[in-house]
Parts: sequence; C-alpha cells; structure tokens
Amino acid sequence: MFPTQETFKEILLRDHLISPEDLERAMEEQDRSGGELSRILLKSKLITEDQLSLVLSEALQLPLINLNFFKIDPSLLKLVPKETAEKCLLIPISKLNDQLTVAMVDPLDILTIDNIKAMTSMSVSVVLARPKEMRAALERSYAASASSDLQEIFQDMKESREAEKLELVREKVPSKRVMEDFSQEAPIVTLTNTIIHQAVAAKASDVFIEPMENCLRIRYRVDGYIREIDRMSKNLHFPLISRVKVISSLDIAEHRLPQDGRFRITTPQNKEVDFRVNVLPTAMGEKIVLRVLDKNQEMADIDKLGFEPEALARLKDCCLRPHGLILACGPTGSGKTTTLYAVLKHIDSPGKNIVTVEDPVEFQIKGFSQVNIRTEFGLSFPAALRSILRQDPDVILIGEVRDSETMDIAVKAALTGHLVVSSLHTTTGPGSITRMLNMGVEPFLITSSVIAIVAQRLVRRVCQNCREMYTVSGEMVKEFRIQELLPNHDGRFWRPRGCDQCLNTGYRGRVAVSETLVLTHKVRELILISASEAEIKAAARAGGMTTMREDAVIKASRGLTTLEEVTRLTAPD
Ligand SMILES: [Zn+2]
Repeated sequence: MFPTQETFKEILLRDHLISPEDLERAMEEQDRSGGELSRILLKSKLITEDQLSLVLSEALQLPLINLNFFKIDPSLLKLVPKETAEKCLLIPISKLNDQLTVAMVDPLDILTIDNIKAMTSMSVSVVLARPKEMRAALERSYAASASSDLQEIFQDMKESREAEKLELVREKVPSKRVMEDFSQEAPIVTLTNTIIHQAVAAKASDVFIEPMENCLRIRYRVDGYIREIDRMSKNLHFPLISRVKVISSLDIAEHRLPQDGRFRITTPQNKEVDFRVNVLPTAMGEKIVLRVLDKNQEMADIDKLGFEPEALARLKDCCLRPHGLILACGPTGSGKTTTLYAVLKHIDSPGKNIVTVEDPVEFQIKGFSQVNIRTEFGLSFPAALRSILRQDPDVILIGEVRDSETMDIAVKAALTGHLVVSSLHTTTGPGSITRMLNMGVEPFLITSSVIAIVAQRLVRRVCQNCREMYTVSGEMVKEFRIQELLPNHDGRFWRPRGCDQCLNTGYRGRVAVSETLVLTHKVRELILISASEAEIKAAARAGGMTTMREDAVIKASRGLTTLEEVTRLTAPD
C-alpha cells in the first residue's frame, strides 16, 4: 500500500522482531480485515509500541525524537485543538515561517496531516515520537498552556473589578467576595485540579505551592525527593491559594496566620485520596503545602518489607509476645508507619482487639478501631490513650510518641498486658533508649517493657531499566567491608544511568534498609548500668544484629540500590 511497506517488513525480519510465520499470519489477518499492518502487529502483541516506533523511524526515514526533552512553546499549542492532539496523538513542536513541524505517533495517518495543513494553512513536516512520551507531553503541555491562558483571564478580571474592589475598600469590608469569585473561575479550578491530580498520578507525597520573588513555583516530593514541576506567573498566586483554601474549608480572608485544613478528591480510577493542607504566611506571601494521604495503599506484608531473613525471623518472634513495646524509629518519611502496620497485620487474628491512635490516620484498615487525634477538641494522644485503655484492647498502635506523658502511658500499657507498637523520631535503636531515658522513663521500666526497636531509612531503588554494572575499587571494598560481609561476592555493584522511565534520575521507587535491636539479656544489663550507645550497639552486634549500613550494602550487592545511596543514608559502623 505504501512504498515503505516492503522496507517495514524487511526490518521486522532482519532484526528478528517477529518470525516469518507470525508475519505471514499478520498479513493474512490484514487481507481479511484490512487496516494498517503495524496496528495488527500491535494489537496481537507481536511487537511493542517502542519497537514499532523504531522500525517506523527507519522505514520512513523520519527522525524519532524524545519528547521528554522538549519544552513545547504554548503559542504552538493554540494551532491545534487539544481534542485533536489527544485523539490523534500528535503535538506541534516548532514553527519556522509557514513550516510547522508536528511530532506524531502514527506518521502514516495522512488524513490527520491533511487536516492540520487545512487548519493552519501551513505546510506540515512530521517527526516521530513514542506513544508513552507523547501522552506525557500532551498532558504536561496543555496543562501548562491552561495556566498561561489563566494569566490573561486574570488580567481581564483585575481590570473589570477595579471599581468593585475600590468600593469594598471604602466600606472596610474584607474583600472576601472578590476572592471567592476569583477562586471559582473555571480555569483556576482546572489548574488546581491538574496540579492535584498530577501529584497523585506521579505518586507524590507532598505538593508545594510557593511564591518566589518573580514567580509561583510548584514542586512535588516523589520518592523523598523534591522536584520542580512548574513555574507560573505570580499573578496566579492569589487565585490559586484562594481556590485551595475554598476546597479545604479555610478562611479565605485570613492571610497573616497559618491555617490547617483538609480535602478529599476522587481520582478517575474512582479512588479516594485525602490531602492535608497547611497554609503558611512567608515574606513572599502565603505558601501552601499539601500532604497526600493515600489511604488506599495496601497494608504491607511483613515478609515483603525487605527485611533480610534473619532480621525478619527475629522481628516475627517479637510479634508473638503477648505484651511489651515494639518501636520503629527513623526520620520523617523513613517508612516507620508502613513497618508498624505490617507488624499489626502480622499480629492480627480474629480474636484480637486492635486499636490505633494516630495523627492523622494514615491507612484505613477494616477490623481495627482507629482514632484520629484532634488536639483542637482536646483529643490529644494521652487523652485518647487513657480512654482506650479503659476498654482493655490487646494491641495498641500509637502513631508517634512525641512527649513524656504519651511515653509514660505507652510504657505502662506495655507493662500491664498490652502489646504496644509505636514510633519515635530518633535515628538509631540505642539512640531511642537514650531518648526514653531523657523522657524520664526509668531504666528498669525500659528493660521490662521494650521488646525490640527497628531503626530504618528508605534508600532510593536504582532504576531497574537503566542501571549498569561496574566493579568497585579496592578502597571501596575496604570502606564498605564487603569481604567480611559478603565473602563470596565478586565486587560488582550497580550504578544509576538515567532513562525516560526514571525521568533521567537513575532511580525509581525506594527500598527500606533497617537494623533491629532486640533487647537481649546482655543488652538489658547494659541499659541498667547506663552503658553508652556504642556499648549497647556492640553487644547487639555480638548477639547477631545486622547493622543498617551492613543491611544497605547487602541490598546494594543485589542490585536494589547503589553504594552512593548507602553512603548518603547510613552511617558507617
Ligand atoms: Zn532509568
């Protein structure tokens, strides 16, 4: 049909992308049902989208571009309606005089190309793009273009409402009505929704909307790393902040005091996601931080948290105790809560009464009684715990122990027949003991209540798609004590490279590394004589504890992370 058809088939066979038999069958199918051969191959999963792009590029002699590296000029987007671009998977990428270059997924779609020629009265040249990158580019570019349209609209609104605003100032009425109007203009609603929904799609844990000197900056935190997503005109600051305040039921006229609120969205996949909202006045204006609380996350299985077999067996042993205190420690975002819930899931059985007290409840679990702390109504951790203990539950999860009063209740509950699991904002197991002592817990109460302390961090998982192997230097073998730790290891580790799957960071997702301090007889003795953290650690290691650094090196040796991450997130022993 096309002069390239023969070349197309030749390349498929030459590169062994498809067997001659499969090609034969696909062509028979084409004879029966008609249509493009490439589509038939895709539909019957004989080749992938990426393979097809490469073959088309060669057969048609068209350059294949990576749209991830293109920032599309918003003025070009106006040439092609969004609906056409999305339906036909194309995007205009440059214009020179009356020559328009369009990136397309299907450059054989002559009808569409003619259509664009007619629509723009320009001559059109085509380059090829991969479908996945195209979809991402379309989403990115048209959302950004919506925000630049907004700036024009905002300017109009400002002018047409000068009179109204002046009037309001004269009457000394807070200009609340004007602000509410701004926050409900459809483009602002669209922009806010785009920022929120994209954050969920990108699996962000936080969204930052920050006024800078000359612009408004939008950043997401993904896998613990903050990434800039967009910079917009500062004109959008006020309507955007107002819109977030409206959906979070906050006071729209309050600009000088911090405010906290929350809202809930339903994603296109029908998933409910909650956001905790914090508005903070800064010198540049109000800054908003949205914390994404995805309660639909599945409760992790203790076997799948990445504990090494020995550490896992020790932790499971601890879970079998009828009473006592199990602590998880680490900085914010180290996965403590996930570990605590995995412990609860492991302990859970139909006869057990499990209660959680959290600020806020992070996972909703059927069968658990979960209490949300509301200090504004007097429902603090101590108050909630006191009333819970009257109902005598078997297991209590306390989201985090932040003060001596809560610590005191937790220890007493652990000593009076309850299994208590909780977290501390400390960095190491022995450090947590010191923290407990500083909170006024007597050493003998620590040794009789605490069963184990899990210290953990999340290191970035090296992108499994683009990671590359290398042999570490002799110095590094020494530094990481690789020979002692892994006597049979060949010294080959992995390092990040960067590809489109990991947004060129070389990393994708995270892995927990941990050390579990079990309070053995020897460790308890040391606590009672107020031994140092180093002495406690040494005793625990003698008793078989793998340190966090060791655990991380083991994970790096298996290609889960890199030695750079190990150095960055764990201290040497
Ligand atoms: Zn990658």
